[in-house]
Amino acid sequence: MTDALDVVVIGGGFAGVTAARDLSAAGLSVTLLEARDRLGGRTWYELDRIRGFDIEMGGGWLGDDEVHAMREVQRYGIGLLYDEGAPAKLLWRSEAGVREGTLPVPFAQLADAERAIFAMDKAAERVAGTDFDDAEQVAALADLEVPLPELFVGMNLPVETAGVLEGFWAGITSASWAEFSVLSAARLIAATGGTFMDYMGTVMLGPRFRDGTVSLVNAIVGDAKCDVVYSTKVTDVRNHADGVTVVTDNGTYEARAVISTIPINALNAVRFEPELSAAKRELFERGQAGRGYKLWMVARGIDGGMFCLGAPGPFNHLFSLDERDGEALLVGFGAGPAPDPTDLPAIEQMLREYVPGANLVAADLHDWRNDPFSQGTWLVQSPGDITKFDADGRKPEGRVYFAGSDFSKEHPGYIDGAIESGGTTAALVVEALSNA
Ligand SMILES: Cc1cc2nc3c(=O)[nH]c(=O)nc-3n(C[C@H](O)[C@H](O)[C@H](O)COP(=O)(O)OP(=O)(O)OC[C@H]3O[C@@H](n4cnc5c(N)ncnc54)[C@H](O)[C@@H]3O)c2cc1C
Repeated sequence: MTDALDVVVIGGGFAGVTAARDLSAAGLSVTLLEARDRLGGRTWYELDRIRGFDIEMGGGWLGDDEVHAMREVQRYGIGLLYDEGAPAKLLWRSEAGVREGTLPVPFAQLADAERAIFAMDKAAERVAGTDFDDAEQVAALADLEVPLPELFVGMNLPVETAGVLEGFWAGITSASWAEFSVLSAARLIAATGGTFMDYMGTVMLGPRFRDGTVSLVNAIVGDAKCDVVYSTKVTDVRNHADGVTVVTDNGTYEARAVISTIPINALNAVRFEPELSAAKRELFERGQAGRGYKLWMVARGIDGGMFCLGAPGPFNHLFSLDERDGEALLVGFGAGPAPDPTDLPAIEQMLREYVPGANLVAADLHDWRNDPFSQGTWLVQSPGDITKFDADGRKPEGRVYFAGSDFSKEHPGYIDGAIESGGTTAALVVEALSNA
């Protein structure tokens, strides 16, 4: 048992380190408890991990209009890399096969693509400016709580256009696009420029970290005057009238308040007393649907680079990032369970569905779905989730606050949202403790 702290922060991903820094900057005593032996959570930069390439096993890209992440990048002078120039091969996948060309859809289907984009823009227009903590405003959007493919029903989209749309969204969600609601797609578009093309530009063309996500995590935590305790898994959080007891596999902590940044899918492993709200219990028990994979590959025969988008899989997004001595570094995103990275013949076959002449040299991934401290990739809000769980998930329970990208009001699912949520929640706690 330790002396009572002002705040215990659980989890050292972007949300946790941001919260810890802001709380300590306000003069509060803070201890950050992290189950792993490293910080960063669902971001994890590995040097020299595959054939001499440095890679992000988890989140890695930002968007220029992601204000919370970009503020931190500028604050600490973090270097970013922009991948410029078009790759030699642009490929588009659909039920009709893999098509090569500059246009994502055949020329004759440009009007079909425009109709689909228009429908997404109209939905985003309705969502713009919504306060997602306001039940009445959210209820007015209830008709958008349907699977995303339903937005396009009745449009008779040709297979090539439908395949590119589905592949875009399945890659963006790390799930089947039918598990994503129109409302969550519209919310993301509204938060990122307001039109589908703005959103697509941000998520497909945004920068990555020159020295890895770890450069920003370290800068933020380096500014936090707090203790960081590694390899310490929180098992119980007990709210009482004048504080919170946090039980770990490595000791017990007392604090005036707690910020949990544990991902939704890992929260079911923690016991809360008293019982959480019915909505939180249901959400943590059921989990969220983002459970796909990010597979790194090094291959020969990808001269000049490639980019592919579309569905059906195995990859919804597949593109090269770097090339050295004839070996290209590729990354592929898929919605199903992670492939076995040691089964090179099977992975080579997956790759050859797109580039028949490719020769796989190496493959690697981290299985986030089966990682006990994430049990998934990033937040997917399925039909009904926003109405039922979104605002409730952010509501504190006594002295326990829930933060993280899975709970972000502004940019759920993204590094930007983790930073936003960490900062916003820290400000709430500072206010609550100063009024106590
Ligand atoms: C493969 C992949 C690709 C992605 N790509 C992008 C991208 O390109 N751009 C982007 O913006 N986002 C991306 N994301 C999403 C982004 O990485 C996350 O949304 C964000 O990093 C989450 O930050 P967080 O702090 O909210 O949660 P986390 O990073 O998950 O941090 C939570 C922390 O809590 C710890 N923890 C869990 N349980 C316990 C416990 N019981 N006790 C103590 N500690 C515990 C975990 O170990 C973890 O460190 C990607 C994610 C993945 C997995």
